[in-house]
Amino acid sequence: MNFQKIKIPAEGTKIKIVNGKPQIPDQPIIPYIEGDGIGRDITRAMKTVVDDAVSKAYKGKRKISWMEIFAGEKANQLYGNYLPDETIDALKEYIISIKGPLTTPVGQGFRSLNVSIRQILDLYACVRPVRYFSGTPSPLLRPDLMDIVLFRENTEDVYAGIEWEAGSPDANEIVRYINQNYGFSIREDSGIGIKPMSEFASRRLMRKGIEYAIANNRKSVTIVHKGNIMKFTEGAFNNWCKKEAAENFRDWIVTEDELYSMYDGKLPDGKILVNDRIADSMFQQLLLRPSEYDVLVTPNLNGDYLSDSAAAMVGGLGMAPGSNIGDYLAVFEATHGTAPKYADQDKVNPGSLILSSVLMLRYMGWIEAADMIEKGVGAAITGKKVTYDLARQIENAVEVKTSEFAAEICKNM
Ligand code: NAP
Repeated sequence: MNFQKIKIPAEGTKIKIVNGKPQIPDQPIIPYIEGDGIGRDITRAMKTVVDDAVSKAYKGKRKISWMEIFAGEKANQLYGNYLPDETIDALKEYIISIKGPLTTPVGQGFRSLNVSIRQILDLYACVRPVRYFSGTPSPLLRPDLMDIVLFRENTEDVYAGIEWEAGSPDANEIVRYINQNYGFSIREDSGIGIKPMSEFASRRLMRKGIEYAIANNRKSVTIVHKGNIMKFTEGAFNNWCKKEAAENFRDWIVTEDELYSMYDGKLPDGKILVNDRIADSMFQQLLLRPSEYDVLVTPNLNGDYLSDSAAAMVGGLGMAPGSNIGDYLAVFEATHGTAPKYADQDKVNPGSLILSSVLMLRYMGWIEAADMIEKGVGAAITGKKVTYDLARQIENAVEVKTSEFAAEICKNM
């Protein structure tokens, strides 16, 4: 494929899909979007750390060929478009990529670029691991008990973007239609949003969550929903996820009923417990009994709240990695925004994007490099040489710049 502005690196090979799985060459071309605001600082730091880890882990046998692609403000300057077609083409063609945060200009009719990327590429699972790094300031007494991976549905729910403004002709028409035909009494000055949730999308998300639990030796998959109130959306989500587990993973799973009726409350070796929790109760459970949870599967809105809340329990968004995964396409990303007031100051914590690169390396099967980076991050934090956000909460910490924190990670790998 020929691109207009994207420069394909002279060295490196495309990742291919073989038998439904990405096949990773020793020198894969990985597209990256630098991102707006602090994106520039943290992307630079992330690439330094990844290159160093890969070089140390594989002694030159493996290497990433980075290929810059454009979205956000930089794309608008280059193409006059915040999300050019060739960026989408590159994300599709090169399979695995990583991105910094992107600004969503506030104003009517501007859809979030992040949401657009997820929806155009059908990256239906937002996967966010939340674990504790020793020494990170946390509001919990035992943050070390938290080690969960959250699979949030990415394409449906109230986030599907089907909305009408209060008083608009469409909203008026819908309100009138529902009131007249279904006997409801929606107030006439209401804004209207639609919450679609399908069996197809719920089951494919659950499949990803269970496959992850199997591959990573996790002990439970908990469906989080608000089905006691929203029976035909969130309640159905719970039922469809359980149906997927029962129909396609019967030999792997034990339900909560079976756990007590057949196994005296003890999960047999090699089995995965499938249970469910009401969303509001889940917020309490994560605070009070985090060690009882492992993989969480959630609808879009609940998952958004829950992932940020869980991240806060182990040290905040500066350290929370994320990824958006489809059947095989994957875009890894920092979970925070562009924090424009800190842009280009070499100041913020690059931890979120660096830990996202760890997820990317694991997805590629480059486990040794991923382990090295995690070790480096852990040691940098216990050594108390950290960026401002952590330094302001850790006693006797030395505040370092973004680039110095990256160097500290490399030194400790
Ligand atoms: P934000 O950019 O996440 O920043 C909020 C605050 O979080 C910052 O002021 C800072 O707190 C802290 N923070 C964020 N990243 C940090 C880091 N790497 N290191 C240390 N502290 C960090 O949220 P926002 O101000 O609401 O959003 C700004 C723009 O980002 C908006 O245009 C929004 O649409 C966009 N956004 C993009 C994404 C994405 O691309 N995935 C996600 C969310 C928001 P202190 O002020 O306390 O230091």
